[in-house]
Amino acid sequence: MQLIESILADAAAVTAIRRDIHAHPELCFEETRTADVIAKALTDWGIPIHRGLGTTGVVGIVKGTAGTSDRAVGLRADIDALPMTEKNTFAHASIHAGKMHACGHDGHTAMLLAAAKHLSKNRNFDGTVYLIFQPAEEGGGGAREMIKDGLFDKFPMEAVFGAHNWPGMQVGQFALKNGPCFASSNEFRIVIRGKGSHAAMPHNGIDPVPIACQLVQGFQTIITRNKRPIDAGVISVTMIHAGEATNVVPDSVEIQGTVRTFTLEVLDLIEKRMKEVAENLCAAFDAGCEFEFTRNYPPTINHPAETEFARGVMADVVGAENVQEFEPTMGAEDFSYFLLEKPGCYFLIGNGDGSHRIGGHGMGPCMLHNPSYDFNDDLIPLGATLWVRLAEQWLSQPRR
Ligand SMILES: [Zn+2]
Ligand SMILES: [Zn+2]
Repeated sequence: MQLIESILADAAAVTAIRRDIHAHPELCFEETRTADVIAKALTDWGIPIHRGLGTTGVVGIVKGTAGTSDRAVGLRADIDALPMTEKNTFAHASIHAGKMHACGHDGHTAMLLAAAKHLSKNRNFDGTVYLIFQPAEEGGGGAREMIKDGLFDKFPMEAVFGAHNWPGMQVGQFALKNGPCFASSNEFRIVIRGKGSHAAMPHNGIDPVPIACQLVQGFQTIITRNKRPIDAGVISVTMIHAGEATNVVPDSVEIQGTVRTFTLEVLDLIEKRMKEVAENLCAAFDAGCEFEFTRNYPPTINHPAETEFARGVMADVVGAENVQEFEPTMGAEDFSYFLLEKPGCYFLIGNGDGSHRIGGHGMGPCMLHNPSYDFNDDLIPLGATLWVRLAEQWLSQPRR
């Protein structure tokens, strides 16, 4: 592994920042303390900052000393935490019940800060590195909000890169994939309007419950009978609410859930068919139907040239044998918004087998969003080295 010496020397100090952020988690668009910590660190290191894009976003601007090139590349870290209570008992555990850095965004922030510190002292590149600290990845669409507030107009960049830690993958390994790697995330809410009645005399009403049961089954035939088998797509009904008594047929049933796809074409098909199945099934049984479908994050689709570029940098840092092909996941990631605007690549960095954590409530890799999760601080020098090498090599290669 080819780690940068000065980053290794600073790792303990940046680890302290990471643990401070971990202890003080903040949710979507409320990351004011976190943004203050980031802004102070960057300012202390002589890096000009811009604040307020996407409410709490921070952009650090590192210009090379080599000249006046207008070349630029963006590196992004997300900074928000999750609304869940931490079960860890170590010293840097969350001090706020109901809030936790269970996705490692504290670590993503730290890796980018460590890279920033090195770049501020070693500006041996020609162009600009934009350090993008993005709020509200966990459902708030902070990437979309930063773009809306003019991120790419104020800071024109040729490409943008992002990374996520991945429990279960070894420390010292990266994974990436050209094309779709995270899914689009969407929600639906359907209300079946029937007519309540005495449960012993159901013929006097319109019972929405059997309609709801058929609807849940009917949706699965969209997956197996309507979309092409080789296209990925998931419909999960996750909430069904109806009724308050054993002897009363309810007036209505509310059904909610999520839809995930890797392409907008498959999403269009699934949304259209769900609406048709819901409305026509309800009509067949004389019930009313309210159908709402909300598209959240688009699919995250890596660009081919930037993916191959990142693969080459990773191979330089950890060896080609430690750069894996990433198996796509139906999870969602709002880096997708950046990739709709700019070429780039989103990749994974192994968070290890979980042995860096204190056991007692579940060993093993401990997946993201788990109350026993913790970011592995060994990644800070590795991730920072990768960011530095990626930025340096991007700016030294011929313009694409
Ligand atoms: Zn997450
Ligand atoms: Zn995350």
